[in-house]
Amino acid sequence: MQVYLDNAATTPMDVQVIEKMTEVMHDVYGNASAIHAMGRKARAEVELARKSIAKLLNCEGSEIVFTGSGTEADNMALRCATNDLNVKHIITSKIEHKAVLGTAKELDAKGIASIHYVDLDIYGRAELASLTQLAQKYPGSLISLMHANNEIGTLNDISAISKIARENNCFFHTDTVQTVGHYQLDLKEIDADFIACSAHKFHGPKGCGFLYKNKNLHIKPIITGGGQEGKMRPGTENVTGIAGLAKALEIANRNIDVKIDTVYRIKEYFKNQLMKQIPGVCFNGDTSKEGGLYTVLNVSLPPSDNASTLLFQLDMSGIYASGGSACNSGAVSSSHVLEGIKHPENRSAIRFSFSKFTTQEDVDYAIGKLKELL
Ligand code: PLP
Repeated sequence: MQVYLDNAATTPMDVQVIEKMTEVMHDVYGNASAIHAMGRKARAEVELARKSIAKLLNCEGSEIVFTGSGTEADNMALRCATNDLNVKHIITSKIEHKAVLGTAKELDAKGIASIHYVDLDIYGRAELASLTQLAQKYPGSLISLMHANNEIGTLNDISAISKIARENNCFFHTDTVQTVGHYQLDLKEIDADFIACSAHKFHGPKGCGFLYKNKNLHIKPIITGGGQEGKMRPGTENVTGIAGLAKALEIANRNIDVKIDTVYRIKEYFKNQLMKQIPGVCFNGDTSKEGGLYTVLNVSLPPSDNASTLLFQLDMSGIYASGGSACNSGAVSSSHVLEGIKHPENRSAIRFSFSKFTTQEDVDYAIGKLKELL
C-alpha cells in the first residue's frame, strides 16, 4: 500500500488538469507573443487563464504576473520592493519559508534593507502588538508575513496585518503559497500589495505560479529580456502550465467549503487516533479549524530509540511524510520553523499533510505503522 501524506510539499495532479494541459500541449503550441493565428491562440489561452484567476481572487487580470514558481513570486515581491519602492526595512518572521527568509537575509547582508523579526506566540503566529511596534518604528517598510506556515499550519490574521501595514504606510506581502486554492481568498478584503501562489500545491502543475501585485505599484522586472507579462516577467510564457494553473484553481475553488470540512475531518480523525494510540504524542502549531491549515498536522513524537530513522521506516512501509521541510534539499535537516517555536530538541517531529484524495483507510494504515514502529 502507498499512502501519500506529504501534500504540503506537493500534491498529485487532478486528472482534469492533466487533460487540459495535454490538450494545450497538443493544440496550442504557438508562442503567445507571435502575431499569427497560432500565436494568438496561445495568447488567448494565457489571457483566459489570467481572467479566470483574477475573477476567483477578486482582483484585476493586469495584477497577475505569471512566474515559474512560488519562490520566484516571493523573490519578486521582496526585490521589487527594495529596488523600486524605496523600502529600507523588511519586517518578517523567523519561520517564513526560505523563499522569503533567504531573500530577506540576502538583502540585509548586502546592506540593501535591514531585517526585523516580529515576535511569535507559541503556535508560531505573528504577535500583532509586536508587529505594530515595528511598523511604527519603521514606517515605509515591507511587511512580509505568510498566510499559513507550511510546516506547522498556523494561520496568520492577514486582514489585521494589512490594516497595521496601511496605518503605518508600510507595504504588505503575504506568502499565500499554502492557502491559494485551499481557501476562498478575496484580495479586496485582504488588501495586500503582493501575494504569491504556486500551482503544485493545489493539484496543478509544478513550475508555474504567479505574483499578485497591486495595480497602484510602479515596479520593474527583476530580470531583463522581453516585454512579456506586462513587462514584469520577461521570457516566453509557459502556456501549458498557465492553463493548468487556472484549471486547478477553478476546480479547487468549486465547493471549497465541503472540501475544507472533509479534509479537516480526516485531520481531526488522525489527530484523535494518534492521541488514543500513541501516549505522549503532541502537536505543533495551531491545529484548530479556525487557527490552522486544515491540510497540515505537525506531530511531535515521544522520544524513542528509532526516532531518527522513523521517516525512513515509514517510507519503507509506503507512507510518505516529511520531517522538517521538504522544500530544501531532500535531506531532513533541523527545521528553522521548529526552532522558531522552541520545539524540544529531544523529540522528532513529522509533518503529515492531507488533500481531498486522502482517505480514512490511508490514515488508519499510517497510524497502525507508526504505532508498530514506536
Ligand atoms: N512558500 C511556501 C509557504 C511554500 O510552502 C513553498 C513550497 O513549499 C514555497 C513558498 C515555494 O513554492 P515553489 O515550490 O513553487 O517554489
